[in-house]
Amino acid sequence: MKAIGILTSGGDAPGMNAAIRAVVRTAIYYGYKVYGIEKGYRGLLDEEFVEMDLSSVGDIIQRGGTILKSSRCDEFKTAEGREKAVEILENYGIESLVVIGGDGSFTGAKLLSELGVKTIGIPGTIDNDLAYTDYTIGFDTAMNTVIDAIGKIRDTSSSHDRVNIVEVMGRNCGDLALYAGVAGGAETIVVPEREIRTDEIVSKLRTTQKRGKKHSIIVLAEGADIEGGALGLKNALTVKDKADVRITVLGHVQRGGSPSAFDRILASKLGNKAVELLIEGKSKRVVGIKDNKIIDLDIDDALSMEKEFDQDLYEMAKILSI
Ligand code: ATP
Repeated sequence: MKAIGILTSGGDAPGMNAAIRAVVRTAIYYGYKVYGIEKGYRGLLDEEFVEMDLSSVGDIIQRGGTILKSSRCDEFKTAEGREKAVEILENYGIESLVVIGGDGSFTGAKLLSELGVKTIGIPGTIDNDLAYTDYTIGFDTAMNTVIDAIGKIRDTSSSHDRVNIVEVMGRNCGDLALYAGVAGGAETIVVPEREIRTDEIVSKLRTTQKRGKKHSIIVLAEGADIEGGALGLKNALTVKDKADVRITVLGHVQRGGSPSAFDRILASKLGNKAVELLIEGKSKRVVGIKDNKIIDLDIDDALSMEKEFDQDLYEMAKILSI
């Protein structure tokens, strides 16, 4: 019987479990044997394999994190490491591998496909930083976590007439800050893709203060180019505006939690599609969602695409927060 391996790699994201469930159930439905590989490429090299059955993915669709665990593995970045991986997969009769992760994990999958292993990548990261897909698994849940936090911060911010800087994840991608900022009604959104001077933020604070609004929420993406980061911004605002400024760094809370309905459905569709592609004999592909349709494309093509920043949404956010 042909076997499919599945692993999660890089940073974890809510919805990864729903994707694992979809891959395992679809593969078993079509008569494949499935091995769960724990701790990403590290576990592959350490032979941390578990044979999966229908019930091993029971009761996980609603759980955050990844039951297969995740890690980063430098050994897999070497040619020797990957050759060893191929040998191990062959020993287990695993011809195909589904990799759930981000761009780094996809690069690993692509290199593995060049050594003869059929690979399919599923986008799992809260950063939404993959250009070829409108959404990655985990982004929607993380966005809702941020919105929830902003709502709570807004309550206390307004009671005390404070300025609150809310730092959110996303690495070099501002999507999480932008979308959550819009949905949370932030007064200012600072993203890596667009430059903004602290003077502009101060003048905006003054304008809103003049019309009686004393509190303000600034959503700051962790990768934004602000001197000194959140602390630097706080200091600048305190000096220039004499504002009472507090910082909330949301941190890893954004990576956890039960996945949203959107993420569960997306993960289910992408997991199912990944196995269908393998059955069709496809390899070195990634799956995603574009204009509400499930798509697949070559990993090289996907990784060479440049992420587009949603300028329209950014401009709209400015208008809505005057
Ligand atoms: P996230 O977006 O959450 O960071 P990611 O998949 O981009 O996810 P990385 O740390 O970049 O996370 O990659 C995860 C793992 O994929 C690495 O630890 C390594 O094992 C493998 N990998 C990354 N880049 C390469 C590469 N260039 N060649 C081979 N393997 C790689």
